[in-house]
Amino acid sequence: MSKPFREQTVLITGASRGIGAAVAERFATVGMNVVIHYLQSHEAANEIARRCSVLGSKVMTITADVRSSEQLLRMREKLEAKGYVPDILVNNAGVSHYGMLADLSENEWDRIFEINLKGSFLMTQLFMEAMVRQKYGRIVNISSIWGMTGASCEVAYSAAKGGLNAFTKALAKELAPSGVTVNAVAPGPVDTEMMSSFSQEEKNAIMQEIPVGRFAHPAEIASLVYYLSLPESGYITGQIVNASGGWVT
Ligand code: NAP
Repeated sequence: MSKPFREQTVLITGASRGIGAAVAERFATVGMNVVIHYLQSHEAANEIARRCSVLGSKVMTITADVRSSEQLLRMREKLEAKGYVPDILVNNAGVSHYGMLADLSENEWDRIFEINLKGSFLMTQLFMEAMVRQKYGRIVNISSIWGMTGASCEVAYSAAKGGLNAFTKALAKELAPSGVTVNAVAPGPVDTEMMSSFSQEEKNAIMQEIPVGRFAHPAEIASLVYYLSLPESGYITGQIVNASGGWVT
């Protein structure tokens, strides 16, 4: 039996801004315990924490590089000491890279895979044990439509997100008997800092290809993550759910 939803704890990686921050605020509206994880945007994370507390939630902020198993282990110790053991884990921290594969360095390839894919593996492995023990948990990975369709000039990012999709499907099967669901949300373009490397002209050109005619608002992705995390969503697992304004159908 799971705890009542409002008494559960959610941990969101990369919640200092963008989609992660919107996810934190969505959970905070029901007064859950929210862990806001980030890498270096200390002030931004504190501001999101303040907003979540105003919404009625108990909040903790914590920093760790998702590439470092040592930092993540220390993070888990701190969370356990304060009683913030996640029932819901949202693997959202991610980075993109735009450029031709011919120009991609080996270091950049590794960085993209380590943050988008290995980070989700390390986080999941750290926190799934407690979920399995209590026979309940929700894991939501933030992927991308490019992991489903592939994108020119984003080959490494597409490959990392494609790997995350396969990770999601495989782990869902492994954890289903333990009452833990594993799903991924695959957004199309979302209005966050990640899109800031594109000029307005380039953004307009992308929007013309999207049937809804605009980028997603972070809150629209957050509501899907929230839905997949509900106790009554227990029969949905191993799914890559795209939110792309009708672009990928
Ligand atoms: P964003 O605004 O750039 O925020 C990225 C977050 O990840 C920040 O909180 C950042 O922390 C954290 N982060 C980066 N590297 C990290 C590391 N090594 N360790 C720990 N945290 C790290 O990104 P976003 O647009 O919200 O994207 C969130 C997720 O959605 C990503 O997985 C992305 O691939 C996916 N996505 C985004 C879009 C889009 O159009 N925006 C579309 C599809 C999928 P600091 O602020 O502390 O550095």
